[in-house]
Amino acid sequence: MNQKIFTAIALFAICLTTIIITVQAGQTQFSRASEFNSSTQPNSLPNITFQNPDVELPRTCALQPTNNRTKTPVQKIIPPRQLSLERFRRFGSSPNSPTINNPPSFLRGRVNYTPKESITLADPTNFGERFVFDLYGKSAYRSPIVVLHETVGSASSAINFFRTPHPIESEQVSYHTLIKRDGSIVYLVPPDKRAFGAGNSVFAGTLGKEAVKTHPEYPPSVNNFAYHISLETPSDGRDNRSRHSGYTQAQYQSLAWVVAKTGVPSSRITTHKIVDRSGQRQDPRSFDGSTFLRLLETQPKTNEISIDCQPPS
Ligand SMILES: [Zn+2]
Repeated sequence: MNQKIFTAIALFAICLTTIIITVQAGQTQFSRASEFNSSTQPNSLPNITFQNPDVELPRTCALQPTNNRTKTPVQKIIPPRQLSLERFRRFGSSPNSPTINNPPSFLRGRVNYTPKESITLADPTNFGERFVFDLYGKSAYRSPIVVLHETVGSASSAINFFRTPHPIESEQVSYHTLIKRDGSIVYLVPPDKRAFGAGNSVFAGTLGKEAVKTHPEYPPSVNNFAYHISLETPSDGRDNRSRHSGYTQAQYQSLAWVVAKTGVPSSRITTHKIVDRSGQRQDPRSFDGSTFLRLLETQPKTNEISIDCQPPS
């Protein structure tokens, strides 16, 4: 009898330990594959009241992050009710820049792909301004990089999450742009703003290790100089496995189309998995880099999508 009681107590203790470990693991900012913690996601979108619907989001940078550990920085961004497509992609902004409608002569006839584009602005708690100086007062300027991701969940669940206010900093996350399975492009954060796409991260390129420390309590990251693009994951990839069936041809075409418009050279295009220093990120899984680069070569590079912001006066 005593042995049975002992066995029952032991089993109970093992179960309890397992539950505690599981809960603690879930409290990390991201799980291994999931891009964000969807447990806080509401069933329906919140009613977002914009305080000043007539003002476009200014293209200003912030000067320097605060070193105050006790006070959470409050987002000062007041979004307008509607943003024009020009706010995300300044087509033809430079007379010297070829555009999809005005490709250079040597590419004419090769460029015949135009994706559908739309805007769904992320809630302002989920993005911030790019900084001119880092936490220590040193220049935070780095040449832009493009970081590729995948949503793991559906595009709609990702967009709903970004539109949901997240006052708790550890839950704040966003991409600049998302590409759905049909190749349609959704702009979420203006390119001159800092999307919270990668936490603990470093870009190791020809110039050495690049990262910017912008928060006293979090590791340095690439967010201050990154443009984050995410591909919607296929339905067979919504788990933690290392592979899935991959992305559609339309997604690769749209990705090449949008990356070319950042003007970022191939040497500065990377993935979340490569820049990640937390050991938890694997995305984008099953990504065909050669297909992407082949399509990228067919697109004229422009500066329509620019991460440049204007220093505060
Ligand atoms: Zn990612």
